[in-house]
Amino acid sequence: MIRSVNITKDAYYQMLRYVLKYANPDKAYRQWREVIGWLIGKVNGDSITVLQAIPMTSGSSIFVQIADYTILPKIAEEAEKHGAIIVGWFHSHPSFGFFLSGIDIRTQRYQQSLFENAIALVCDPTKVSETEPGIHGYQVNMEQTLGNDYRELTVHVSIDEPYPKVLKTLLLEAGITRSFAEVIAYEELAGLFALEGIAPPISPSLKGASLLPAEREAVPEIIASYIIRDSLEYNKEGYLQVKISNVGEG
Ligand SMILES: [Zn+2]
Repeated sequence: MIRSVNITKDAYYQMLRYVLKYANPDKAYRQWREVIGWLIGKVNGDSITVLQAIPMTSGSSIFVQIADYTILPKIAEEAEKHGAIIVGWFHSHPSFGFFLSGIDIRTQRYQQSLFENAIALVCDPTKVSETEPGIHGYQVNMEQTLGNDYRELTVHVSIDEPYPKVLKTLLLEAGITRSFAEVIAYEELAGLFALEGIAPPISPSLKGASLLPAEREAVPEIIASYIIRDSLEYNKEGYLQVKISNVGEG
């Protein structure tokens, strides 16, 4: 039984960079998307070390799922060359926190049926603080077949810098100077105005980020379907990435 997860600097940066690409303070809140990917690493007793995080796909603002498992053998083969294995998967919950949803539990149950040590990591970059890396780890209890029975793992990130500094560095790297705090403060303000039935003032520093909570509720749940055209490729940062093509939504 796995109890703790050690995330290397490489894997931490890879996950955050990918998550931020689809949910960041420069994107309108309603356009934030969840992302999902695979974790490469090693098992050592009751601990897992995550060496690499491989981006796979993005979904809707509130939903993402693994649409294709055929790429797994290729990723496993690539990992093996480095003496590693697939140790689980990660996905993002931009702004809605750390937990496993019903479908996350089903996905994780399937992962653990393939590999008993498989872990699930959930990333919410808006929650990053001095004491919060923004990534939590989970395993489900395989004996339990009903209910939301999963447990949280201890997560340790092997970096020297404070987490908010890493977040800021990655945002700046993408040309983003605004902070999540600004966007969230504005969303809360917009919510108060909505209660009063009046339109909120548009903050000049938040172009494109204005959105009433009611609108967010109305964002339809879209399940994107994907096919994998090519197997794997290295992106310009030198990270292994699954090449995907979106073939439509529905
Ligand atoms: Zn989820």
